[in-house]
Amino acid sequence: MSLYNKYRPNLFREIVSQEVTITAIKEQLKNDRFSQAYIMAGTRGTGKTTTSKLFSKYVTCESPSEGEPCDVCGSCIDAKAGRHSDIYEIDGASNNSVDHIRTLIDEIKYPPMRSRYKVYIIDEVHMLSGSAFNALLKTLEEPPGHVVFILATTELHKVPATIRSRCQIFTFAQIEVRDISAHLLKISRFENINLSEEGARLIAENTDGSMRDGISILEQLSHNALIDAQTVEKALGLINEKHTCSFVEFLLDRDIENAITVYKEIMKQGKTTSQLIESIIRFLAGAIMCGDRVGEMSSTLKKLIEFKRNVQKESNIQLLFNLFIVDACTCTKVIDGALEDTLNKVDKRIYEIESFIKKVVKNKSASGETPKPPYNIDDKTADKHLNVKPVQEEVKQELASDNKAPIQKDDSELKKANSERVQSLLGRLNKFQAKV
Ligand SMILES: [Zn+2]
Repeated sequence: MSLYNKYRPNLFREIVSQEVTITAIKEQLKNDRFSQAYIMAGTRGTGKTTTSKLFSKYVTCESPSEGEPCDVCGSCIDAKAGRHSDIYEIDGASNNSVDHIRTLIDEIKYPPMRSRYKVYIIDEVHMLSGSAFNALLKTLEEPPGHVVFILATTELHKVPATIRSRCQIFTFAQIEVRDISAHLLKISRFENINLSEEGARLIAENTDGSMRDGISILEQLSHNALIDAQTVEKALGLINEKHTCSFVEFLLDRDIENAITVYKEIMKQGKTTSQLIESIIRFLAGAIMCGDRVGEMSSTLKKLIEFKRNVQKESNIQLLFNLFIVDACTCTKVIDGALEDTLNKVDKRIYEIESFIKKVVKNKSASGETPKPPYNIDDKTADKHLNVKPVQEEVKQELASDNKAPIQKDDSELKKANSERVQSLLGRLNKFQAKV
């Protein structure tokens, strides 16, 4: 049995987080005032299926109390083992046709075999076909009194409004890092897995709020004598946190030379700039949670998140990042809002590149091709369209105008080093291979 199944909650009170939703559900059950159709919506691994299972366990339980199933009666034991004759779990993805739903509806009219209710859990319900939804709708309008429907979905917006309006909707938020992390540590204690707190936090940070992902990563790593930050970084191909941290610190301190050294070090380990940006965002988010340098970082974080969202995976992120560094170099001249300024420039650059890609795709489609990334574009064309020259001019101009912005006296050595760096980066930029 997988660790995830082994530690799946047997009672509502064992569910980690989702307090609001779970409390509401328990209240309804306790007062015997629950509805006959529910939608459990939320991203994967947040407890929708677990809650649906517990709900069905409760309504079929022989002696539930205080909003919890008894967990010991024959009905509870069968529900737990997935063999209860009144609980139907249907995968909406593979049973999505109207015929599947019609068969299901034909069965619904028969009374439950052993309990008060028959429960139909339809997972991934958004995968049903249009006609399947229509067939389901009729039943949802007037379900037999002994039936409860629980529809689970990761994509609520794909469920027709007509269906949604017939159901009570419960939403499941992404589980917080600290909750996942604490749960992983708890499981590790039971399983004699040597998991460090740092390791747990790092796993939790890489799950997108999914407990299932967290537990499955833990399980994959459980053969290690010790699971610490290093183990997790290695297994998940993450960038060393210390590297990310110093890179950001150097950028914030305008120490571009060291920032570039760290950047090169990271690239040497076979990581991509996209991974670095992800790592920076995670690092900054963590820093903000800890109230560390909040004012300085929050706008940077916002910009970085925006930056990442805007960058299409196919575009030449390496080039963008070089521009980012070049801009960061030039920003040593501007004491206030330097990084923000840089990121604004990068934003502008992304916009230019995106428009360019769109234009290329449009032209190629018009001539009957169906272009797919990477769109190999030679340097000359890219230079022409990406406006690279003006960027270089801009940087050169900034370098030339020494008295443009206030510079502290002791910055002169750094400035000289930065100028050299910028020049060498510009050289690289001249030769870039555009694969936008
Ligand atoms: Zn029971």
